[in-house]
Amino acid sequence: MTADRPGAHPEDTPTVATLVVVDDDGTDVVLDADEAAALLALTGGLDDATVSACPDCRSRTLACLALVDVLDAAAPHPRAGELVALAEDAPTSHCYVVDLAADCRHPRWRDPGFPEWFAVVVPPPTGRRPPRR
Ligand SMILES: [Zn+2]
Repeated sequence: MTADRPGAHPEDTPTVATLVVVDDDGTDVVLDADEAAALLALTGGLDDATVSACPDCRSRTLACLALVDVLDAAAPHPRAGELVALAEDAPTSHCYVVDLAADCRHPRWRDPGFPEWFAVVVPPPTGRRPPRR
């Protein structure tokens, strides 16, 4: 690791999506590792907004209204505005956190929040099946 490559700016470091918050419409807010860690630290792991969560990773189903409250009550986060907008515009009362950093198939996530989460974050490939001819 060279800290002083010529022409490199600190903000050039590539962002790696670590955590995604998505709603039923597919609107998403993508957080990198630092943003995800900060968000979870500021919000107590989003516990107060969590409806259902995988016990093994950070993927979870959130209540949108509670998410807005949690973000309002937390110390400022650089992406909080986007997350509040997503939660307020979500077509259903829930939104969904996907932990991209975890290689987890959620085998121990066994309550009704899981199929709901799964249906949103794992859409069928290329949308609807074309009509048969
Ligand atoms: Zn999991």
